[in-house]
Amino acid sequence: MRQRFQILNDPRFRLVYDEKRRFFEGPDPATLRLNIEHFKVADGIKKKTRVFPGMLLATHASLDKGDLHSPIYGIVSDINARSIFVDAVKREADDPVLEPRDFLEEGREGEELRWQMKEMGVNMRSLGQKVKTLIINGLNPDPGVTWAESILQTHANNLRHGMELQRRLTRADRIILAVPKGSTVSYDGVDIVYVEPEYPNSVNSVLIREVTGEENPPDIGAVGLHNLWSLGRVGTSGYPLMETVVTVGSATQWKNYIVKNGTSVGQLLTHAKVELNEGDTLLRGGPLRGECLDRLDRSISKGTVGLFVVEAGTVPPMEGHSPCVNCGACVQVCPAHLNPSTLSRYAEFANYNVCFQEHSPLCVECGLCGYVCIARRPVLQYIRLANAKIKQMQEFVYVDTEENASDETTEAKK
Ligand code: SF4
Ligand code: SF4
Repeated sequence: MRQRFQILNDPRFRLVYDEKRRFFEGPDPATLRLNIEHFKVADGIKKKTRVFPGMLLATHASLDKGDLHSPIYGIVSDINARSIFVDAVKREADDPVLEPRDFLEEGREGEELRWQMKEMGVNMRSLGQKVKTLIINGLNPDPGVTWAESILQTHANNLRHGMELQRRLTRADRIILAVPKGSTVSYDGVDIVYVEPEYPNSVNSVLIREVTGEENPPDIGAVGLHNLWSLGRVGTSGYPLMETVVTVGSATQWKNYIVKNGTSVGQLLTHAKVELNEGDTLLRGGPLRGECLDRLDRSISKGTVGLFVVEAGTVPPMEGHSPCVNCGACVQVCPAHLNPSTLSRYAEFANYNVCFQEHSPLCVECGLCGYVCIARRPVLQYIRLANAKIKQMQEFVYVDTEENASDETTEAKK
C-alpha cells in the first residue's frame, strides 16, 4: 500500500502513549451552551425552565443523533435556533432526581434497544449496524488523542457493559476487538486482533482493510471505542449520556477528562490549566481531523474526542488560495486512493459534479493530504466542502423527486 512507505515509523503518527490513568473530572461550568441544530425542543422547555441532570431538553428525529439532556441543575437562560443556554444553580431539596435504570435487566434488543439508547442520548449511527462481523476500533482516533489505552485498561467495567449492549443491538455473528500490537488486554468471549498502531489505521474503513486484508468487504463494519464507551457509560450509570471523554492537549501536556456536554472550550482550557497565547490555533477534535475554532465560547459536544492547542509558529498556516504545485505528495499518502490535488482544485472552483465523478465521497477524512501539502492548501477542507455540496444537491434531488411523485399521485387520484 503506497501511503505506508511515506509515514511508516514516523513517531508523530504512532497512536500509543502508554497512557493508563483513569480520567480526570472536567469543570463544573457556570453556563452551558447545548447545540440544538436540527433538534426539536422538548415540550415544556422554554426560557426560565428549571432543569435537572438527565432531564430531556431536545429530541432528534434520526438515530444518528442521541437526544439531548441537561447535565446539571440549572435555569434555561436562552433558546435560539442553534443553542439552548443553561445557567447552573444550586440543587434545592425539592428538585427532582432521576432514578437510574438497569438496561441489561430491561432486556431490550435489536431495533428496540437502538431507539432506547438513542433516547438515552447516544449517537447510534455506527452502533446498530446490521453486519455479519463488527470490529470494535480500539485505537486512538488521531495522533495526540490518548484515551483509548485508558479505556481498554482501566474502564473495563464500562467497556464490558458497552460490549454487552452492543451484542444485543447488533445481529453480528462475530464481534472483534482491534487493539494496538503489543497490547495485553483481554475480554472474556471477545476475539482480539492486533493492528499496527499507526495513523491512519484508526480510520474505520482503513482499519477494516487492515484486519481483513480486503477493500470494502461486504457485511463488515467498525465502531469506534469512544462511541462504545458512551454506550457503556449509559449502561453502567443507568442515566442518559450527558458527557464525553476528551483529550486536552498542548505541546507540553495532555490529560483525559470527562466533560459535561455543552461546556465551553474556554472553561475546559482554564480547568486544564492550558494557556492560549496570541497566534495559537485551537482545534476541536483530533489534530489531523479536527476543526479550527475562532471563539472560546464554542462548546464541547458528546462526540468531541479532543481539544488541542497548536502553538504559534509550530505549523505553517494553511493558505486558502495557495496554488497547487503538483508535487504529488497528497496522492501518495491518500489511503482512499483518491487524487486530493485535483479534487481540491475542482472544489475550489465549485465544480462539485466533477468532484462527485472523481469519487470525492470516498474520502475518509484522514487529513493526511493537507498535512503533507507543501503549498499549505486546505485540501481536506476543500473536499469536505465539495462533499457537503454534493450531499445538499442529492437531498434536493431526492426531495424534488418525492414532491414530483406526490404531485403525480395527486394528479392520478384526481
Ligand atoms: S483526507 Fe481524504 S482525500 Fe485527503 S488523504 Fe485522507 S482520504 Fe485522501
Ligand atoms: S500536496 Fe499540495 S501541492 Fe502537492 S499535489 Fe497535493 S495539493 Fe498540490
